[in-house]
Amino acid sequence: MNLFALPAFADNYIWMLHDGTQAVVVDPGDAAPVVQALQSQGLQLAGILVTHHHADHVGGVDELRPLLHGPVWGPAGERIPQPFEPLNDGDGIEVLGLRFRVLDVPGHTAGHVAYAQEGAATAPLLFCGDTLFSAGCGRLFEGTPAQMLASLSRLAALPDDTRVCCTHEYTLSNLRFAAAVEPGNAAIEAHAARCRALRAQGLPTLPSRIGLERRINPFLRCAEPAVVAAARAQGAGGGDPVAVLAALREWKNRYR
Ligand code: ZN
Ligand code: FE
Repeated sequence: MNLFALPAFADNYIWMLHDGTQAVVVDPGDAAPVVQALQSQGLQLAGILVTHHHADHVGGVDELRPLLHGPVWGPAGERIPQPFEPLNDGDGIEVLGLRFRVLDVPGHTAGHVAYAQEGAATAPLLFCGDTLFSAGCGRLFEGTPAQMLASLSRLAALPDDTRVCCTHEYTLSNLRFAAAVEPGNAAIEAHAARCRALRAQGLPTLPSRIGLERRINPFLRCAEPAVVAAARAQGAGGGDPVAVLAALREWKNRYR
């Protein structure tokens, strides 16, 4: 199975999985890069996965329908271009012979879902939309810090070698923020060096791995003493993980 990140807009990725004949894409905000990839590699579009309703994730769905030989899957609780197969937490779907479990991960949007591969011998895939970014997380447009903490905790509990397929190239700016939160965390600077080299070659910094994110992502580290202390210095009232996540998210919103 082949996995590609198709760049779209300024910093989106549309993930494409294909077996040499059939392809599925995740969150096609724009049809053009998908059409181009299908044509250049002679692939048939067998399905579309959607994580949430934002235009940069669904904007290309209707334009792709004439090419589509299979379903559009999306979260039951969101307004996705109709028709689509509505999915709820715990549902299982089969995509190009791979099995994925649907996880409700509210926070960025109220009905956001992620797709976690099951039954892989190694390196299962995770399509997590705008919930988890490398070294960061999505903005809280429709959810609460408590919801986002619970959603990120579900993703953090996946196997360490899980391939984290996020939908934006925010890694370097997220790592700058992560280093401000935890100046003493050497794993952050080490990963930043690797990511700078990738970006210098025009390559994505993704997919990441869950085990790595647990070491470098401040939003997955809300119970770490150094992260708690940094959040309290930014005004987190209590030291509990929800207050820490809320303070980190607000700090990140104004961090330049
Ligand atoms: Zn979004
Ligand atoms: Fe987005």
